[in-house]
Amino acid sequence: MYYGEKKIEKPIRWAMVGGGKGSQIGYIHRSAAMRDFNFDLVAGAFDIDPERGREFGKQLHVDEDRCYPDYKTMFAKEAKRQDGIQAVSIATPNGTHFEITKAALLAGLHVVCEKPLCFTTEEAEELEALATKQNKIVGVTYGYAGHQVIEEARQLIAEGKLGKIRIVNMQFSHGFHNVAVEKNTASTKWRVDPKVAGPSYVLGDVGTHPLYLSEVMLPDMKIKRLMCSRQSFVESRKPLEDNAMTIMEYDNGAVGYVWSCCVNCGSMHGQKIRVIGEKASIEWWDEHPNQLTYEVQNEPVRVLERGMGYLAPSALEEDRIGAGHPEGLFEAWSNLYSRFAQAMDACDRGENVEFWYPNVHAGAEGVRWVENCVQSADQGAQWVDYK
Ligand code: NAD
Repeated sequence: MYYGEKKIEKPIRWAMVGGGKGSQIGYIHRSAAMRDFNFDLVAGAFDIDPERGREFGKQLHVDEDRCYPDYKTMFAKEAKRQDGIQAVSIATPNGTHFEITKAALLAGLHVVCEKPLCFTTEEAEELEALATKQNKIVGVTYGYAGHQVIEEARQLIAEGKLGKIRIVNMQFSHGFHNVAVEKNTASTKWRVDPKVAGPSYVLGDVGTHPLYLSEVMLPDMKIKRLMCSRQSFVESRKPLEDNAMTIMEYDNGAVGYVWSCCVNCGSMHGQKIRVIGEKASIEWWDEHPNQLTYEVQNEPVRVLERGMGYLAPSALEEDRIGAGHPEGLFEAWSNLYSRFAQAMDACDRGENVEFWYPNVHAGAEGVRWVENCVQSADQGAQWVDYK
């Protein structure tokens, strides 16, 4: 159980790039980072529009002279201060992630970057190497991965409760973009523009989320080859897809499916993962995040509830309120930000951490998966060996 005790000696001096007023994801970054007093928001380049960003920063209690017009000015000016920033979160549209993450690492900062980390495996490898060289942490916000029952699923699988894994069935499939909403919505407009969004839309935007959940639950399984079919049901989105199905073969003989979609009419979020072994299956759905279904063949279905004493100790460590009260996205993100802070703090003291979190390698794996999916889809849904 976590009662809010400090996890690091002093809060990390922290800034944001993007996540300004009206952005979809800025608020969750701030509330997750600051919830456990691990980060102090002391600076920002919050908006593509400098004036709007400055006004918004003031509303967040950031000193006016530390609300910067752009990230380059912020990194340069903060580097000159005794009390300059130590870490930055990047919550801007996809096309800027590579250059801002690179600049932040070169400025000696720890980074939390939104997914996708960048567009190509080559860029991802460059960032991984740079983070190692600079001895800095890069965290990537696959937010729901921080939910406690994901850790429970990882433990059940590690203990062999499911037996040998056969099938991993994943989806993130919502219906909010069933028509060309991008005509009137700025945050959807860039998502369907390859220059800003990168080589994919839904594969990178939503598909990589359950994919990362599978990497947490099944850390030893590696994709051997995959095939992907993608469509643009709203024609103006071509060449970017609004629906895709990926079939994967793993090195242990298991198969995986990822359905990535934004035209699934009526579906609110539809992020699910079902792991099927030879003895039993588990299933988790982000719209009911406090429950993990555990189904043993020939036995009644069990619904494991977050916070209950029968869960693995590691799935109870970050419990904040006890069973019964619903926890969700905010707590999952807070848990991740807490792990980012502890990893940054340990790194500064020359130590390693034992726990998992979505690190720069996880970010690179998401980029690699999208790249392989796009290659397969653009060759007419051919099988491609996973590179
Ligand atoms: P958005 O379009 O709603 O907001 C983008 C924000 O960034 C705006 O405030 C904009 O002014 C600002 N901005 C743009 N370029 C900038 C620059 N160069 N410098 C400073 N500020 C800049 O976008 P969004 O939906 O919040 O998405 C942002 C990122 O977060 C994307 O990469 C997206 O994939 C990711 N995202 C992740 C999740 C998740 O669950 N992890 C959910 C939603 C979005």
